[in-house]
Amino acid sequence: MARAVLHGIAVSTGIAIGKGFFLNRGPVSVRHELVPLDNVEAEAARLSEALARVAADFEQARDQLPAELKGYIDLLNSHLLICTDPKLGDEAARHIREQRMNAEWALEESITVIVESFSRLPSPYIRDRIEDVRMVADRILQRMGGNAPPPATGKERGILLAYDLTPADAMGIVPSRVFSFAVEQGGKTSHTGILGRSLRIPAVVGVSGLGDEARSGDLIIVDGLRGQILVDPDEEELAEYTQLQAQFEEYEKSIRAHALLPAETEDGQRVAVLANIESAAEAKAMLASGGEGVGLVRTEFGYITRISLPTEEELYAEYAALAAALAPRKVTFRTLDLGGDKIFSGRKKLDEINPALGMRAIRYCLRHQDIFRTQLRAILRASAQGNVALMFPLISGLGELRLAKSILNEAKQELSADNIPFDADMPVGIMVELPAAVLVADALAKEVDFFSIGTNDLIQYSLGVDRGNRHVAYLNQPLHPAVVRSIKQVVDMAHKEGISVCVCGEMAADPYCLPILLGMPVDELSLAPQSIPAIKHFIRRSSGQSCASLLTHALSAPTVHSINNMARQSVYRRFPEDVTFFVSQLDADM
Ligand code: PEP
Ligand code: MG
Repeated sequence: MARAVLHGIAVSTGIAIGKGFFLNRGPVSVRHELVPLDNVEAEAARLSEALARVAADFEQARDQLPAELKGYIDLLNSHLLICTDPKLGDEAARHIREQRMNAEWALEESITVIVESFSRLPSPYIRDRIEDVRMVADRILQRMGGNAPPPATGKERGILLAYDLTPADAMGIVPSRVFSFAVEQGGKTSHTGILGRSLRIPAVVGVSGLGDEARSGDLIIVDGLRGQILVDPDEEELAEYTQLQAQFEEYEKSIRAHALLPAETEDGQRVAVLANIESAAEAKAMLASGGEGVGLVRTEFGYITRISLPTEEELYAEYAALAAALAPRKVTFRTLDLGGDKIFSGRKKLDEINPALGMRAIRYCLRHQDIFRTQLRAILRASAQGNVALMFPLISGLGELRLAKSILNEAKQELSADNIPFDADMPVGIMVELPAAVLVADALAKEVDFFSIGTNDLIQYSLGVDRGNRHVAYLNQPLHPAVVRSIKQVVDMAHKEGISVCVCGEMAADPYCLPILLGMPVDELSLAPQSIPAIKHFIRRSSGQSCASLLTHALSAPTVHSINNMARQSVYRRFPEDVTFFVSQLDADM
């Protein structure tokens, strides 16, 4: 028996077996102790050793960054600067020597002084560095608490274990060194999970007890099919999982072999299968996976890894290169969706009690119109290639839509006045992610070119379930009657106005949800490149007619339990040999 078998939520398929290392173990509590006089020098040495090691970790991470993550270099350099700043080390050493504080306490004291002095400065740029100082301090404290850094050399590879990963942490994962991860926090559609899929590595989130049960250096099995973590498995478990890993890889290979075939049901229903990507680096993977275009570029990931705001030229270069690489296929840029669990490291986090209901997405852009305009101009300029679409996230109603569109129109006028080319007919859509938008979908459909349903947020806001909270993950049910009926209403309203509907939340990658979505019928699905071959495989073996009749039953079903059962039965019946090999958002039935 393994030393521990822990349960979590599988968010990225596959099996990984290897050595685990902790990046962090959750909020660090600082011990306050007085050091005996003759230990003072040893304590000061412990602190400077931790500082040097963390600086070396940052240096190494920076030097080994792959080209596509180069935006991360600024951030790592600034962390390195904080770490080597004499104000930090010298002050803390003084506290140890003069007041005999232990190293952690001394560090905490000097951090408090730095943060206070930063907060008094008039420059918003410096004030925004406070979060970075805190983050670096946490790393140093973790180091003093015995957490190992990522594997030391480019050759050594491992499984990353953490209490939590911020999107910026996750973007810093170098796939050549990290081949899987497990985290204690996070829910079914948290951005950590989404990034796991975009990195195409097995990942499990919401793993209770991970920090207590596992240690850096333990042999770990990440079961990204069933959502389990085995700590220190025995021989028998190891053999069983090695075999399952081989079977999974074989299955994946067979599915990928047909990835380029069209997505059409047995009875001829066509659905476009597009990709969700975070950066241009994924364009190649999406083409190889059989993606027919990009339904969602999560542009915020180009911001959260930077230390300062990107310029219009930088954004334009990035967007135009992506559009050119994929032409004539469509590339849909979503305007900045910052806030919620996506925090911009170059800006101070707002003091919000409830960020999911706060200043995020389109609200943030309408508040910071300078940032918004810069991005709109860059997208418009990239649209000159003729294959670009744009959409606004988290629209709640016509007022917000009209305001966003009026700023877009101003940007168009500015470009025209300067003779800068753009596509005057670029399709403009919205993401339907709020119950409010569902209820006024008829009015919204008259003023946009397409809808894209963000089911991750639509589920979060319709069912009142924080998408990143593992404690309520069991309530995050994509086939809840309220969700199914909402999607149906949005599809009907869109089709009545002759506009298309895409589903771009994680639900689009879930084979159990597929028959319901095909039954609506949605026009496009947009999902992580990793999941495209499997979804196309299921589409090709589905019947559009059976999906429509399944949906009719689902629409009159009173409980999520009954819809889940219908969906499961239909998948078991058609694809009995596939069910072991994919992850689904369906689990508990309430
Ligand atoms: C969604 O909410 O479903 C979506 C696709 O957007 P994001 O996951 O980036 O919030
Ligand atoms: Mg969303």
